[in-house]
Amino acid sequence: MAQLIAALKQNFGFDAFRPGQEAVVRDALAGRDVLALMPTGGGKSLCFQLPALLQAGVTLVVSPLIALMQDQVRLLRDNGIAASFLNSSLDASEQSRRIAAVLRGDYKLLYLAPERLLLPEFLDGPLQRLADGPGIGAFVIDEAHCVSEWGHDFRPDYRQLSVLRRRHPGIPMWCFTATATPRVRTDIAVQLALDEPAVHLTSFNRPNLHYAVHAKSKHSYAELLARGQSGGAGIVYCLSRRRVDELAARLQNDGLKAHAYHAGLDARVRHDHQEAFIRDDVQIIVATIAFGMGINKPDVRWVVHYDLPKSLEGYYQESGRAGRDGDPAHCVLYFGAGDVRTGEFLIQQKIDPTTGEPLEDEQRIARQQLRQVQSFAESTDCRRALLLRYLGEEFQGPCGGCDNCCAPRSVEDASLAARQFLSCIARLAQRSQRYGAAYLIEILRGAKTERLLARGHEHLSVYGIGKERSVEEWRNLARSLLHQGLMTESQDGYAVLSLNERSWEVLREERRVEIARPPAAKPGGAATRDGRRAAGSDGGAHDALFERLRALRKRLADQMGLPPYVIFHDATLREMAARRPQTLSVFAELPGVGQAKLARYGEQFIEAIRQSAG
Ligand SMILES: [Zn+2]
Repeated sequence: MAQLIAALKQNFGFDAFRPGQEAVVRDALAGRDVLALMPTGGGKSLCFQLPALLQAGVTLVVSPLIALMQDQVRLLRDNGIAASFLNSSLDASEQSRRIAAVLRGDYKLLYLAPERLLLPEFLDGPLQRLADGPGIGAFVIDEAHCVSEWGHDFRPDYRQLSVLRRRHPGIPMWCFTATATPRVRTDIAVQLALDEPAVHLTSFNRPNLHYAVHAKSKHSYAELLARGQSGGAGIVYCLSRRRVDELAARLQNDGLKAHAYHAGLDARVRHDHQEAFIRDDVQIIVATIAFGMGINKPDVRWVVHYDLPKSLEGYYQESGRAGRDGDPAHCVLYFGAGDVRTGEFLIQQKIDPTTGEPLEDEQRIARQQLRQVQSFAESTDCRRALLLRYLGEEFQGPCGGCDNCCAPRSVEDASLAARQFLSCIARLAQRSQRYGAAYLIEILRGAKTERLLARGHEHLSVYGIGKERSVEEWRNLARSLLHQGLMTESQDGYAVLSLNERSWEVLREERRVEIARPPAAKPGGAATRDGRRAAGSDGGAHDALFERLRALRKRLADQMGLPPYVIFHDATLREMAARRPQTLSVFAELPGVGQAKLARYGEQFIEAIRQSAG
């Protein structure tokens, strides 16, 4: 244990592992196959980088994105770790130079794009020579969900990676992903022929993120502007390129440094805008969802969805780009009824390009995803609990970190209505029938719709027992029952409801059901206050020394052509400003300061601290 911690401090500057890391590191070092699900910002890379340093041979890391591998290699090198990458961004002579260095054993970690690794001449040539020479420590498959057709990011190249197992059966495979449903998880293990892998599921909860949903109104832009003015790097997601361009221009007009990013821009422009954001030259990126994959900027302080995201999984990933450094960050979603109409319109555009026929399966699934996002936005329950439940994780709210938990709301005992609703499902189940919420509400309210009468459902004992509640009240209840896990919805796009164990507890009156009353419409000022709180929660952000250290970091970063966060994270600078170390030995104790960084930057930062004292 002490040895691991010492290696952690020496190489990465940390005194302790983050939750979940140590167990993965231990299994990796024991030579096992590993399948680890960790949220973005959970410190996933360290779980393979540390074992790679501690074991013999070169560890090969397969990564799907060039930007991501370059960023990781940049960070490793700044920590004094021998790492390199091979991908299509390098010319032939640079590639052969790096391959020669790998074969000499100059690197501990080598990052590769899958298409490069899988070339037959690479498999037979350098890879085989590496295995015969310095040796292969492990194969790391990053973003392993790309293996699965059931994931949201399937890459056929990834599926071919099983060839590594066949050619080098004794080398452990360590697979990492930040997103995988149980189905994708199984698929990864099967496709890559993992051998009784050590499975690690780290909680997807991101406690430092604050979630809020604001009603779209004519005040929305003023709120966004106030948030931008209160500082911190931020990302604003919009649905269309046109909305991105308009909003970026408007923010620039109002004096903020903002860049646009979408697939319609020239690749060069996109790259420049992204670099400017990463290097703190612009504060805000306004983007379509094309932006963010492979962005590892740890100090994004807020992510605003100015339009509705396409799915809750998308929302979790996009909002999850905030606060990767673990410091407080805000995720705000703007929601209006128009968003649902727009979403529905876009879904209707999903047609077969050759026949012009609607793609019914795709449309049905997209509709369910839209309903899930809508239901998240309209919910009065803990937003963290709903997001985590969607990802298959139980979380008992209130979390104290979302608008629904923070705003005092009145709660009503809805046990009776809940029993009525669930009995309706039970009655239909007796006839082997299952329906969605909208139809159940018709039955409960005693509607005389054609489909209801045709099915003879006016004879059910539950028909018309819930007349006194409005459709909206019933919808709110149904949403809440789902969100609290008190009934189950099918995930096939049909969203039919069924009872689970907890439903029966409610029906047997063993469990009380409470639901929050929807809040009265808030005036537009609410978010502005929230924005100020976000600025205030930055704590030492206004501290003069902190700002001075930030300026020094930016100067050094620019000299070396690096993003500032590669040098030190904000959290390290804040500790520095608080502790004001005057000697190298005290400086070495700061979190995030390893041996390489101490030698490289220690003197300059200590000098800045001394000057501010004098
Ligand atoms: Zn909450």
